[in-house]
Amino acid sequence: MTIPAFYFDGKTSRKYAVFLTVEDDTAYLTGDIDRQCPIGQLRVSERLNRAARKVTFPDGAYLEVQDNPAFNDLLAATRHRDSLVVRIQQNWRATLAALAALVAVVVLGYIYLLPAAANLIAKSLPVAVDRQIGQGTLEFLDRHMLAPTKLPAARREALIRRFRALTSPPEQWPQYQILFRHSKIGPNAFALPSGDIVLTDEIVLLLQDDDAIMGVLAHELGHLHERHLMRRLIQSSAIGAAATVLFGDVSAVIANIPTVLLDMKYSRDAEREADDYAIAMFKANGMSRAALASVFEKLGGHESGGKREDGKETDKAGGAAGMAAYLSSHPSSAERVQRILQAP
Ligand SMILES: [Zn+2]
Repeated sequence: MTIPAFYFDGKTSRKYAVFLTVEDDTAYLTGDIDRQCPIGQLRVSERLNRAARKVTFPDGAYLEVQDNPAFNDLLAATRHRDSLVVRIQQNWRATLAALAALVAVVVLGYIYLLPAAANLIAKSLPVAVDRQIGQGTLEFLDRHMLAPTKLPAARREALIRRFRALTSPPEQWPQYQILFRHSKIGPNAFALPSGDIVLTDEIVLLLQDDDAIMGVLAHELGHLHERHLMRRLIQSSAIGAAATVLFGDVSAVIANIPTVLLDMKYSRDAEREADDYAIAMFKANGMSRAALASVFEKLGGHESGGKREDGKETDKAGGAAGMAAYLSSHPSSAERVQRILQAP
């Protein structure tokens, strides 16, 4: 079998027309160049679609072979084995299996590795980063969704004083400030990575019971303690970053940022951790957990409409519609209330 090819010496760009034959495990070149080499010392490039294949000599000289079918016959005749990767690439079954394995790795990584990694990253990030992100978020919310509080200063100060006087749970006490805002999003409360715990006027007016308000604050402090929002941000950025690498689409990352900031939904696990923190805090202060449970009971009751404690019908702006905001990030359920009341 004789195959036409081009020979390059690897030093100049000059092209030599040659013929390649193989006999007794030795490759022979004839034509512009006469050369021979044991085939064991030759390196054959991977088989790629329609690209000329390259046969490299130990000294860097190489052949370009255009006639692929004939060359493949020659390789088969000389029992050349493609690397495992090439053989897998050419086998659709193996390709499918590899794809399935990749999907499994991504899914398992998403479920198990990503949260753990996000936790590690959140813990190793300097506090300044948390503060910056928190401040940026608050500025954004102040511009678009929040307004200065209308609660009397005395009322605000009393709530802050009351919370400050509470004993912390045995764990570390995260740094925090309590801020009040009038809101266009109804009764709500959230904690930003900067340590700002924002209470809307509406949730203070709605809950009325100060112990319940302490419960909301303790729960939000639990989110801060576990750095839940940072972990969520890191996780979503990681997914965005992975999407960028896989699909080359940067817009996925950019599109993601406002969603995460506004849609502060935590996982069930995060909610449970924050509840546990609040439970521990209530226990440490000898406070009734019924007040903590009442937050979710009350809000849950309002969600389905009905009467307020003062007997007035819930109005759309501050009542049922507003409730949805807090409840969407803090789903109320009988199970949750039970847990708060019965946790050891
Ligand atoms: Zn929560």
